Order: sequence, then C-alpha cells, then structure tokens
Amino acid sequence: MTTGRDLPRPRTAAGVAGLAAIRADPSGALVAVDFDGTLAPIVDDPATSRVQPGGIEALTAIRRSGARVAVITGRAAVVAVRLGGLQAVPGIVVLGQYGAERWHDGELTTPDPLPGLAAVRSGLSTVMADAEHGAWVEDKRLSLVVHTRPCTDPDAALRRLAPRIAALADANGLEADSGRYVVEIRPPGIDKGRALRALVGELRARAVLFAGDDVGDLPAFDVVEQLRGRGTAGVTVCSASTEVAAVAERADVVVGGTRGVVDFLEALGSAMSGEDAVTR
Ligand SMILES: [Mg+2]
Repeated sequence: MTTGRDLPRPRTAAGVAGLAAIRADPSGALVAVDFDGTLAPIVDDPATSRVQPGGIEALTAIRRSGARVAVITGRAAVVAVRLGGLQAVPGIVVLGQYGAERWHDGELTTPDPLPGLAAVRSGLSTVMADAEHGAWVEDKRLSLVVHTRPCTDPDAALRRLAPRIAALADANGLEADSGRYVVEIRPPGIDKGRALRALVGELRARAVLFAGDDVGDLPAFDVVEQLRGRGTAGVTVCSASTEVAAVAERADVVVGGTRGVVDFLEALGSAMSGEDAVTR
C-alpha cells in the first residue's frame, strides 16, 4: 500500500474541484480507465499485453474506499478481463468494444454483429492484399481493427490504408476511426463518451474520473466536461505518450504513460481511504 505519494494537482480549476469531490465522497465516485496505453503498456503483439504492475491493486484500493471502478476499452470485454486479470477488482464493470459489451461479476452482455460487418470482413481481404508488410487485421466479432504498428513506417501505412477502410466501412453502414497505429471499423453511434455517460447515470455517480491515452478517449473527456456543466464533478487524466498529443492538450492531469497512471491511481486510492497522500 502506498502512503504519502504525491497526488498531482490538476492544472484546471474544474479538475481540482473534480478530484477534491472524488476524495471527499468516495461512495459517490466513479473511477473509469481505458485499458491499452493507460492501464496496460502498448506492446507490439496486443495478445501479450499486461496491466502495469500495481494497477490491479490500485483499482482494488479505490474500490475498497466505496467508489465504483470501470474499465472502458476498445477491446472485447472478456479479452481485457483475461489479459488484465480485471476480475480481481471486486465489482468492476468492464465496458468492451467502446461500450457495446459489458462484463460484470463474470457475466458478459454482448449484442449480435451488424449485418454489414461480414461484407467489410471480406472487402478487407482485398484492401489488405496490397497493404505494407506487417499490417494485420484483428477480428473482434462486433468490429474489425487494422493494425500497422509492426510496419516499417506505421504512420505512412496507416495513412495509405485509412481512406480505403473508411470507404469500405461507410458503404456497409459502419464507422472507421483511427487511433494509435490502428483503424477500427465498428458500429456507428458507439463511443466511450456514450458508454461513460450511461454508466454515470446508471450508478448515479456524483463525481467521475476518466483516464485515457488516445483520440478514442476524447469523447469520454467531452462527457466529463458536459457533466461538469450540469453539476457532476469530474476530472480527466491523460496517459501521455510521444504518439498522441491531442489527449494531453485536453486533460486536467497529465501523467507519464501507464507507470504514471498507476502511480496516480495508487496515490488516489490512498487519499480516498483516508491515508496520507499529499497534493502537491
Ligand atoms: Mg488506449
């Protein structure tokens, strides 16, 4: 258990108020975090990713203070649970595939795939036939993800593929969204903002924290800001990387990658349990 670790002071007044509200009233708080790049370091092979050491313990300490804890991820919910060992956090809610799926207490709720996905799946084989070496497709059943991280020039490979993938998605009633060396093809109208908003409503949270690292997390940042305008306290945390600048620009708190996130969560857990974390 960490004690006395510095809890960074948010750089905005709204963020300071949001963090203070979470510390003052843990039972009214929701602490929600993204998975890849936030809780788990990005690795070349996403099948081998693991939570940053201390992350599960930190989320558990936050949960034990009375707060609700959630992971909101683009991953399939059961994959995030399995890779992350998330089931160790009592009562955790895992919203997978940007909120299309929900895992709680060992039970998964997941919809049927959209009919257009099968056509995208087969169309992608044509698109990928002349993609850069190393690009590959991850099939998440409800969505498809094209990865270019293993390519020699992942940025260029992504830029070349993205328009063709977007056209294919659009022609079949799906959306294509780019992230850190990925393009995701998924059902329209699903994003982390909607997922977070619904969870805040369901849990009747009075204060919310959301931590993320990528542009797909920005809709959740938007929702934190909207909720603040309606009286729900909130704070956004960026897991900063050299790959994405847009998230750090928007966040109330910026920490260094997954290690920084877990240090922050450890300090928050200590503060929420009345232990002696200090705000610098
Ligand atoms: Mg991420």
